[in-house]
Amino acid sequence: MAMLITNGLVVTFEPDALHGRIIPGGAVAVDGGTIVAVGETRELQALYPHANPVIDAGGKIIMPGFIVTHTHMPYVLGHNMPVDFTQLKSFWDMLQKMGWEWLEDITTPEGIYAATRYAAMKMLKSGTTTVCELVEGPHALPGALSASEKAIDDVGIRAQLGFEVTERIPGVSILDRLDRAMAEKGFEENLSFLARRPARGQGRLQGRLGVHTAFTNSPETLKKARSIADRLGCGIQIHVAEIPRAFLVQKYGKSAPMVLEEQGVLGPDVVAAHCIDLTDEDLEILRRNSVNVAHTPMTNSLGGNGVARVPEMLAAGMNVTLGHDCFFTLDISEYLRYAFLLHKAHSANPALLPPFQALDMVLGNAARALGMADRIGSLTPGKCADILIVNPDCPVPVVPSSVLSYYTSTFQGRHVETAIVDGKIVMKNGSMTTVNEEEVRRACIQEARVLWRKNGISV
Ligand SMILES: [Zn+2]
Repeated sequence: MAMLITNGLVVTFEPDALHGRIIPGGAVAVDGGTIVAVGETRELQALYPHANPVIDAGGKIIMPGFIVTHTHMPYVLGHNMPVDFTQLKSFWDMLQKMGWEWLEDITTPEGIYAATRYAAMKMLKSGTTTVCELVEGPHALPGALSASEKAIDDVGIRAQLGFEVTERIPGVSILDRLDRAMAEKGFEENLSFLARRPARGQGRLQGRLGVHTAFTNSPETLKKARSIADRLGCGIQIHVAEIPRAFLVQKYGKSAPMVLEEQGVLGPDVVAAHCIDLTDEDLEILRRNSVNVAHTPMTNSLGGNGVARVPEMLAAGMNVTLGHDCFFTLDISEYLRYAFLLHKAHSANPALLPPFQALDMVLGNAARALGMADRIGSLTPGKCADILIVNPDCPVPVVPSSVLSYYTSTFQGRHVETAIVDGKIVMKNGSMTTVNEEEVRRACIQEARVLWRKNGISV
């Protein structure tokens, strides 16, 4: 029996935000986990007279779910952690202290489970239906991905998931020593997950091999990552050029894109997060290898890392998407708006990044980056039924000619009223149907206490 969502302003985003069909009084029909029709309400009611349930979306927007291409959900345990931030004078300090010592190196499977459940729930509630998640935590092995997998299953979000392969030894400076045995543990974690959740499967949860960076792995490890990605078709997620270029050039005589191209890592199946400190030559390397960029403007701002050259990337035809690191709110509207505004301010040019370009970064571009363009990112018959019903709390009419601007100007995650993933209603009228929200939040607070205490904070 088909599900019918009727009487809404249907925004298809097919083939993209600029050219997508917008249908006032529109409807979407879903059968099982698949969209089967998109059109006028009267037309679809005639096609599916026995549809059940029928959801009236009168006065609301019907649209595809948003897609985030880079994050670390366990980082929510570090939100507002009262540590001495005056110690952090550079991104290098932030990475070593905040990223590694205070978070990743003391992460447990229990912490991963609790934080991932909370983050996935909050993302879904604000409209993110697919996330590409990179789990970190050298002391949470083996089992880190099982904890994440269970949390993602409980909540019902769609995800690609991998563990971060790194030769970094907890507590030892990467400038002193790296250890390939550390990377092997990471590979094992990824491989056992990929055996359960194949990358090319039709499942809601799939593997994507995780690699930390070019500067925390040897050429041998980088080459191995590429051979696994080729053999399993799982693609790679990796951080690229998030630290100052000079650091890498000093250590290796080359930038991260140069090292990665040399080792054969780059390709159209790579999602590269950050990509900030790039020369023209670095940018050209990423372009000619068809690498997908996961732009993370809020994290980059926090770390004082500078601003990625996104308008130039887009002008060069590169595929740019939007990620976050779960350092802040999980509400996609904040990341979308920040990306929409940042490049205008940075380049003193209000014409940069119009709403449609910002929206493509969290819809079609993101689906393409994850190798899922045939499954998600638009309301198209045959694609997965990942659908949002949005109730715009707006002081002006939301009509076809204004709806794209609505997303960058006034949209907030709380406007998402109902979220459907794979044809299943996971949030209805603002409430989760899959988990007990208060219990999820309380369990997360409990694990945050455990982590904070390890950092000497009495709580
Ligand atoms: Zn990251």
